[in-house]
Amino acid sequence: MKYNERIANLPVYEAGKPVELVAREFGVASEDIVKLASNENPFGSSPLAVEAIKKCAQRASVYPDDSFYELKDALAFKFEMKQENFIIGSGSDQVIEFAIQALVNDKTAILHAGVTFAMYGIYASHAGAKVYRTKSATHDLEELSALYEEHKDEIKIIFLCLPNNPLGECLDASEVDKFIASVDSDTLVALDCAYMDFARFKDPAKAINPKDIIEKYPNVLYMGTFSKAYGLGGMRVGYGIANSEMIAQLHKLRAPFNITTPSLAAAIAALKDEDFVRRTLENNFSQMKLYEDFANANNIKFIPSYTNFITFFFDAPRDSSAICDALLRRGVILRNLRSYGLNAIRITIGRPEQNARVLAEFSKEL
Ligand SMILES: *Cc1c(COP(=O)(O)O)cnc(C)c1O
Repeated sequence: MKYNERIANLPVYEAGKPVELVAREFGVASEDIVKLASNENPFGSSPLAVEAIKKCAQRASVYPDDSFYELKDALAFKFEMKQENFIIGSGSDQVIEFAIQALVNDKTAILHAGVTFAMYGIYASHAGAKVYRTKSATHDLEELSALYEEHKDEIKIIFLCLPNNPLGECLDASEVDKFIASVDSDTLVALDCAYMDFARFKDPAKAINPKDIIEKYPNVLYMGTFSKAYGLGGMRVGYGIANSEMIAQLHKLRAPFNITTPSLAAAIAALKDEDFVRRTLENNFSQMKLYEDFANANNIKFIPSYTNFITFFFDAPRDSSAICDALLRRGVILRNLRSYGLNAIRITIGRPEQNARVLAEFSKEL
């Protein structure tokens, strides 16, 4: 078969290693494996969401409501906007894909920070588009502006990851506002706010209010997900918020029934359990202190994180690949950032007993 030339050079996204694989390969009992590699919620999902999923069993033969009325209604209430301002994706990943499909092609480009979420670049390459990234790893607005000015004719979308995965830093909302004001109104500014609940909890100066920013700037797309703070990574539900004209265009790219009946039910239920989210956030930042203390005591660098993970940076001879491999053999799965060109490891903040285990295993490798 002759495949499109474009796919020959496409990179493949490297997902975190599943528990089953580590159990098989290294003979560690599944219950002894700690997986803190994919920024999942260490407390699982809200019991309300679990209950809602169970109740769907009788309706497996029936397509879900394709308007996603009830979910959009709940989101519209939460964000004080209208249903017409929302698009639902199979994860916010899919919303990123819609935005790219809608705006870029093989003659245009996207722009983002030096080290950020890999899917922007992957979807852009699916569309044959060019990717401009800053030399700085973290979001540097001056550098982003300079690159934008230089390649303004090509750049159709600027992605800001707020806060940034996999580094953890977060721009202030006021800086983001000023930056958007400096961008042409026909360039989309896509705000990937997958971890915004965490950032808002730690520091209100990071909080971006989708309603305010979208009413002010029609060229902004805000993206959120149920995969992180809401604990529904396996359900694949995300959303985009924008003015109704943009949402109408994105909807043309959405296949019908793009999320499942249980996913829909789980997301609706999860929105009713803000207590679950609050407990998640409280645990996250109190436990993150243990990692910061450990890093400080052991000469490991880190960027203060506004997310549910912390990234440790190592200096040679310490080597992130060797450390990750050694921990993997003992059943601790973390995310090596070598593939980003960094001597660094990203660790999702877990439950207290998981974190204690990670730090104990880490000590043996330093
Ligand atoms: C996890 C994540 C997403 C979206 O995940 P979905 O599970 O597809 O909703 C988007 N952006 C970033 C930066 C993420 O880390």
